[in-house]
Amino acid sequence: MRRKLAAGNWKMNGLTASLGELRSLVTAHPDPMVDILVCPPATLISQAAQCCAEHPIGIGGQDCHAERAGAHTGDVSAEMLKDSGACAVILGHSERRGDHGETSDTVRAKARAAQAAGLMAVICMGESLAQRDAANTLDIIAAQMALSIPDSSTAENLVIAYEPIWAIGTGLTPDAAQIGEVHDFIRTRLERRFDPGVGRGVRILYGGSVKPDNADAIFRVPNVDGALVGGASLKAGDFSPIIAALESSA
Ligand code: PEP
Repeated sequence: MRRKLAAGNWKMNGLTASLGELRSLVTAHPDPMVDILVCPPATLISQAAQCCAEHPIGIGGQDCHAERAGAHTGDVSAEMLKDSGACAVILGHSERRGDHGETSDTVRAKARAAQAAGLMAVICMGESLAQRDAANTLDIIAAQMALSIPDSSTAENLVIAYEPIWAIGTGLTPDAAQIGEVHDFIRTRLERRFDPGVGRGVRILYGGSVKPDNADAIFRVPNVDGALVGGASLKAGDFSPIIAALESSA
């Protein structure tokens, strides 16, 4: 059985005062029936990890460099994230692929570095609206899976987040059949590529405008093992009902 995962991506949002939201989450979910991961900006990882020291909420980064150390001004390595208290890192988010020209090859190198440092790599992939309209969604996912996921992946150190680009931050979501088609496809590809324990054990999250009012329906789709949540993860009052919906589906 795969343990469900609710992951929050704060993106470039959050100052020290925002840790109050994390504290509220800790209070609201003292003994969660699902895994919870919060990925604040790098500046807050250390403090966030301290907030959750006595609680199963995990803290993650939003990106890392592919190398362990060196002359890369402004970058953060996987080892540094781990050292700050992170247990995971989001990689290949469409905003990084778009804003920073990250290719799937780059994402694979970063994921390998993350896994080597003992972090769980949450690798994002998804199609643009033009690609969906051209009926290329599954081809795009197949290519992103083949190139972004390292061979070093296990059920513990890899999570895949299917995030249609057109659904991120727009309030639009694919319907249940569309989500199910892609998640089934990802599962089949994983099973074909990896040993059964890995192929069946890797969690596949859906991401893109998950809110308290649509979470329940999304979590009922087979092969949806949780969600990667952006905007609605910033406030405990929004993220908490999403976590509760996931617990109900578990
Ligand atoms: C995201 O950034 O990963 C995301 C899914 O954002 P939102 O939930 O705001 O659409």
